[in-house]
Amino acid sequence: MSDIRDFVMGHPLFCHHDHHVSFQDFDAGRDGYDHKSLLGYATADLVTAAGPGVPAELAVDRLAEYWPAICTTGYGRAVDLTSRELFGLEYTEENWPAITDALQDAIATKSAAEVYEDLVHERAQNRWTIQDGAFRLGNEGALRQDAYPDSYAFAFRIDGLLAMTDAVVIDALERHTGLNVYTLDHLVDALNLAIDEFQETGRLASIKIGMAYQRDLTVGDPTYAEAEAAFVRIRNRKVFWDGIQQNSGAVDAAASRNLGDYVLHRLIQRAADEGLPVQIHTGYLAGNWGSLAGTKALHLLPIFDKYRTVRFDLFHASWPWASELGAIAKNYPNVWADMCWAWAMNPAESERALSEWLDGVPYTKIFGYGADTTYPWCNVGYSLQAKIGIARVLEAKVAAGYYSEATACEVAECILLRNGEEFYGLD
Ligand SMILES: [Zn+2]
Repeated sequence: MSDIRDFVMGHPLFCHHDHHVSFQDFDAGRDGYDHKSLLGYATADLVTAAGPGVPAELAVDRLAEYWPAICTTGYGRAVDLTSRELFGLEYTEENWPAITDALQDAIATKSAAEVYEDLVHERAQNRWTIQDGAFRLGNEGALRQDAYPDSYAFAFRIDGLLAMTDAVVIDALERHTGLNVYTLDHLVDALNLAIDEFQETGRLASIKIGMAYQRDLTVGDPTYAEAEAAFVRIRNRKVFWDGIQQNSGAVDAAASRNLGDYVLHRLIQRAADEGLPVQIHTGYLAGNWGSLAGTKALHLLPIFDKYRTVRFDLFHASWPWASELGAIAKNYPNVWADMCWAWAMNPAESERALSEWLDGVPYTKIFGYGADTTYPWCNVGYSLQAKIGIARVLEAKVAAGYYSEATACEVAECILLRNGEEFYGLD
């Protein structure tokens, strides 16, 4: 092992993005954890391998049939890395019963907090985590202080407001804040009150924009009058508890777009006021059948240009448009390029992207890792996968004569940990 590889493999990480279950939800699911719980994102590759007409649940049920076809992908290799690292077992059909037993043994005598300590902190070496999923409307346990490790900070996410087709999310905002939302101004007031509440926990790290799952990332700048007209139209579509719609007229795409864009600008302005970073999903979408065309980070250029004091953390290497993200991060001082989840989607392209970015973008503007997963054991494989790729890229820079070993270690320390700590003010 080279010195730089040694350095990377032993280095603590800043995990820019995760969706871990809370301690309470982890405990509720204890009986069901088995070898399939290691799959993480690999379930989507099973669906792809199965071909058309096979529902997702069936594809996972037929794991033995499809696993050989996906054990070579980034998603598949991460599963095997987790199994080998934690249990010393290759992830093969004959080992699945033993993997289930080993997993159950590993957690049997531990509290959820102890499991997270062991897997996330000790084994995956994740020193800090930005958690996405807790700070949302309707999450009863959102404000509990005993749901996640102290090393977790939280992203506030309300994508429903950015792609509204009915008033369901407005109802949720009313319930959450206790405010009546009769006007566009009320809507913005309620949104800000919800953010206040999360901010008062002292653990709000960012505003997360995940709207690429619902709409394209092209953002206009509607006037107040346009947004208000859209609000009235959508508000009047309130669906009552008995399912009777007050106004069954279809909401046109333009109304949804105008209101969503208006709210997005208010969210980013709140981030500007508070000095809060904004995390944005760009590129490939989790699962299957996602609409990829609208997810390019390039659509967001007017936003980066307009909000020059806001710091943007752009996710997932924007894969498959990683080169574009490199150019964006080079051009806009307020944009940081983030490799969270990218190593699992495509390790080879992630290596190429990181190598390219390092040749074009200051290494202080690159974030190397985020597991983006549900269960703490998956972090073990995803963190190893990222470290293997990062080490290979840095070894190549040293071998080419571009970096000294000392420079390679400095770059590694920054992209693995220090850049995240400085960006999110955690240390
Ligand atoms: Zn995610």
